[in-house]
Amino acid sequence: MGASESESSGSAPEVLSTLTREGKRRWLCPKPSQGRFANARRIVAVVLIAVFTVVPYLRLNERPLVLMDIGARKFTLFGVTFLPNDTVLLALLMVLVFVGVFLVTSLFGRVWCGWACPQTVYMEFVFRPLERLFDGKPGATRKGWLARSGFGKPLKYVAYLLVSVYLAHTFLAYFVGVERLSEWVRRSPAEHPQSFLVMLGVTAAMMFDFAYFREQTCIVACPYGRIQSVMLDRDSLIVTYDRTRGEPRGKKRKRRGGAGDVSLKVLTPEAAPGTGPRASEAEAGDCVDCHLCVATCPTGIDIRNGLQMECINCAQCIDACDGVMTKIGRATGLIRYSSQNAVEGASKRIVRPRTVIYGAIMALLASLFVFALSTKSVASVIVVRGRGAPFTATADGTITNRVSIKITNRTSERVEFGLEIVGVAGAVITHEESLLVEPEGSAVVPATIAVPFEAFRRGRVSAIIRITDDRDHYTRDIEFVLMGPGTLAHTPSRSGARDDGAAVNEGSSHEKP
Ligand code: SF4
Ligand code: SF4
Repeated sequence: MGASESESSGSAPEVLSTLTREGKRRWLCPKPSQGRFANARRIVAVVLIAVFTVVPYLRLNERPLVLMDIGARKFTLFGVTFLPNDTVLLALLMVLVFVGVFLVTSLFGRVWCGWACPQTVYMEFVFRPLERLFDGKPGATRKGWLARSGFGKPLKYVAYLLVSVYLAHTFLAYFVGVERLSEWVRRSPAEHPQSFLVMLGVTAAMMFDFAYFREQTCIVACPYGRIQSVMLDRDSLIVTYDRTRGEPRGKKRKRRGGAGDVSLKVLTPEAAPGTGPRASEAEAGDCVDCHLCVATCPTGIDIRNGLQMECINCAQCIDACDGVMTKIGRATGLIRYSSQNAVEGASKRIVRPRTVIYGAIMALLASLFVFALSTKSVASVIVVRGRGAPFTATADGTITNRVSIKITNRTSERVEFGLEIVGVAGAVITHEESLLVEPEGSAVVPATIAVPFEAFRRGRVSAIIRITDDRDHYTRDIEFVLMGPGTLAHTPSRSGARDDGAAVNEGSSHEKP
């Protein structure tokens, strides 16, 4: 019957729907409900499970569709890779996602939680069906042979473990990529103990979440559930009970035959303590107080008590109640998707100040993001002064400065970069190592800048280091102060007279846009 063991024993929750009065965990075993929303959610769940599983294998523009490579500090989304120095792009994207969550929640409530969140999808459409298969249906008077055989429970945990292993691999594929993951799988754990431990830890976390923690993730751990009250208003779409129509709730007398034939097992007040008023049949509303909406709720709440933080908008109570209403020959929709205002008779309002403001902010952020993405530079370059003496004088009067140039290739192709010095007559830059940089890779190249002695004024000269690519897509000028002999005369403490080998970085570079 009920959603929990404790419910059947008559203890009503006072604080959390998943706690007894004594503060112990109420172990929820929600009764599955059949109906249009259950069917629709099942289809959505199958599609999403397929999508969650397949996405790490998909590629776009020769890159993973989605890869959050934390080790390499690279995030690839829909074929676009964000590097650590794409701070503005990443910040815009994150704020865009946050505002999008606010907009969707203000319009559709917790539709994500009930329909698309992996926690709900895997819990309600994988783990709970497995539980019912091995333990029997909740409230069933006679359990199946598997549950009676004594093998049901151990087999259930074996099945949980297998699913957790699959989930851990799928989850990690988003962070390490399928190539590295398949390498981990093929090699012996002894060859890669660290990655094996990561895999074990994630599998254990999945097992803990779906076998033990379950709805607690939604109720106490998920931050989204905690802040929904600031995102919802009285016009947001929520699962709501029509109090005007349902109250006062009460048992209906059984009649045989006809539309009003009630063949429901209606709980007695002692067995199912209702929270609302009870009524005689003559004055009763449509709610027969059968408690099926509570029995089916995966978070154990009674939606008749109004909007609650624990409600994940899964619509299971809608199906349960529609089934009851159909059986007793009354209109469905006593519990339905609606808004607080609409259910109280006010007109529906989709366009509200907050939805307009969220929409406008999203449009602005999306425009900025597209602009920043389309104008994203081919490379980012950092020039720092080399270690050791700031300059060296050669016999022919040439002064050389050592620099270190870090070039990050932000494209998906190999790029060969070139260097030259402009703005100082006779200056030359040479580098011993290749400037061919792998896609989304970096190269740190030591280089030497040679400048005629005559170019220096008071021990320094400002030069432009020009970096170009082999396709004429990229030119970047970086102003850099070169140190020369006059430095010794004017600023001895900062010059090559230092013998501690430390770099002198007073002339550190900055990029000209
Ligand atoms: S399922 Fe419907 S009729 Fe039964 S208790 Fe819930 S609201 Fe009332
Ligand atoms: S109250 Fe209804 S919609 Fe909300 S979590 Fe429970 S069953 Fe799902």
